[in-house]
Amino acid sequence: MKFEKVIGQHEIKEKLIQAYYDNRVSHSYLFYGSSGVGKLALAIAFAQYMSCTNKTDTDSCGECPSCKKFEKLIHPDLHFVFPVISVPRKKSISDNFISEWRAKVLEDAYFTYNDWLLSIASDNKQGSIFADESSEIAKKLNLKTFESDYKFMIIWLPERMNSSCANKLLKILEEPPQNTIIISVSDNREDILPTIKSRTQPVKILGIEDNLLKKAIISKYGIDESKATDIVKISNGSLVEARNQIITNDETEYNFSKFTSLMRTCYSRNIQEAISLADHLAKNPRERQKSFLYYCLVLLRENFVYNANLESVLYMTKSEMDFSKKFARFVNKSNVNDLVKIVEEAYYHIERNVNAKIVFTDTAFKIMKIIRKN
Ligand SMILES: [Zn+2]
Repeated sequence: MKFEKVIGQHEIKEKLIQAYYDNRVSHSYLFYGSSGVGKLALAIAFAQYMSCTNKTDTDSCGECPSCKKFEKLIHPDLHFVFPVISVPRKKSISDNFISEWRAKVLEDAYFTYNDWLLSIASDNKQGSIFADESSEIAKKLNLKTFESDYKFMIIWLPERMNSSCANKLLKILEEPPQNTIIISVSDNREDILPTIKSRTQPVKILGIEDNLLKKAIISKYGIDESKATDIVKISNGSLVEARNQIITNDETEYNFSKFTSLMRTCYSRNIQEAISLADHLAKNPRERQKSFLYYCLVLLRENFVYNANLESVLYMTKSEMDFSKKFARFVNKSNVNDLVKIVEEAYYHIERNVNAKIVFTDTAFKIMKIIRKN
């Protein structure tokens, strides 16, 4: 990863490069700051820069044999340590998850701990840097360098390191092996053992500058400029925060459009349309189906509140409000409980893997029967 792939952070890049030319590179860094600002990307880019055989004053070349290996994260002097899950009959060490890790980082080096866990665990397992990892770390750091002048160990989220592993790491940090640069990358510096913290050189990584973050999300996610401006305002310089906002926005827009179709279809008692809408909704992944039904529940309640003239407690967006001006009167005392019950039942059934097409069709037909009740 070249420095140019790291969004913004010009000041930090310059400082790191300067340290390299001044021969002041620390043997142990701690890059810390919020999630999604590019700390991991910076760590990799810095290691690649130092190893590059054809570097410029500002970046690695991306072309030399060393860069080529770095670009695939397979350079023999580049080591990673990161939280993993425990699996039966397998050592809980980073190397056993290295191909998933490379795929994740190469796809996009901006991700959260939860994003990472989702790519290696199917259930709600917790990730940790387990005790097993400490001997791996020692082993790797005792190796001679293969191709680079330095060997690099990037420890992602040291705050998730189990204490026996942390104590062994501490011994290593007390007497760091030669030509070794350890870069710890932390989202929560406060949670790292103080003894470890005190043996690292802290480098605070601030949020990505607003204008650069905006440019990045426009090109990455193809959203328009005004939407990007709104999203950047609430993202605190974090690319993952911005991405989450975009996903939430998209989902809300989608749910709103399907909610209005469903209500219109039910009101006009168009059976054919109801079936094809149910068909469409059933094709979504189950989580999306649940999110839609949950949204229906919220909006039904909001419309009932609107209808009861309690506008002050509404939490609707402008388009939801516009729709509700006409629709709210159909959600009234005589049917609101039934409407809510129908949707809750659908949610219950989807959660229990009942055939989604049947659930959505059935739901539409039930709503049809009571939506015109006054
Ligand atoms: Zn190079």
